[in-house]
Amino acid sequence: MSRSSFQQFHWQSSQFKSASNDIDSFYSLLAEQMQRLGMQQQTLGAIEAYPLDLYQSPNPHSSRPNLLISAGFHGEEAAGPWGMLKFLSQLDSEVFNKINLSLLPLVNPTGFKAGHRFNQYGENPNRGFEFAAGRALESADSSVEGKLLIAQQDLLKALSTDGILTCHEDVLQHNCYVYSFEPEQAAGAFSLGLRDSLAGFFEVAADNSIDGCPLDKGLIHNHYDTSFESCLVRLGAKRGACSETPALEDFDQRIDANCAVMQQFVAFSL
Ligand SMILES: [Zn+2]
Repeated sequence: MSRSSFQQFHWQSSQFKSASNDIDSFYSLLAEQMQRLGMQQQTLGAIEAYPLDLYQSPNPHSSRPNLLISAGFHGEEAAGPWGMLKFLSQLDSEVFNKINLSLLPLVNPTGFKAGHRFNQYGENPNRGFEFAAGRALESADSSVEGKLLIAQQDLLKALSTDGILTCHEDVLQHNCYVYSFEPEQAAGAFSLGLRDSLAGFFEVAADNSIDGCPLDKGLIHNHYDTSFESCLVRLGAKRGACSETPALEDFDQRIDANCAVMQQFVAFSL
């Protein structure tokens, strides 16, 4: 089976009393949380009527670890952005005294609104992040969103030196797994901790292969491709991960799992 680029997926969240693709409701709740936390908004560009927004800690300091969390690259993987909303609602602003936290809450707004994987131009926002001679480069596979992110690579590199977490879902799965990146050949505490936070909600995917990548105990470790997360690790992020929650399972449970994996990612650096 393969993932369809334009098949529409819609779920209903009980906890948010919202449809998974209700983008107005999402942005409204996001603005409330960002205001409460005092995070700094920077608009990297626009995709049709929607901004590609980056948020940073209110008072970043060079002595603190730099962590970046992103969600919503694929439009049908809606529990990522909603999970970030829940993560924000539970976040104490004291955390900004310990880490520099940056967020890309919804990278592909047109896909999110439609409930389909690709953006409205038929591009895959998580491909086309080429890398050569220490720089991220565009390719024919780059999306409008990807080009905006590549244009900001110096900033995004600085904001992710101690880690990048990107939250995805797999619409073909009942089980969870994680793409992980660490300097060591074998997966360590960082990768295992993220996997275990998802395992509190779902069965871990069995040891076989996903999209041709070997899976070992729920981890696809140090697999490089032209994804955003892979590119940031090549640019110098010490660690990286792409969490995958199973979109054949309950939507609210997937939201809770995305919130939990973000909390684990932050806790690891505290
Ligand atoms: Zn995805």
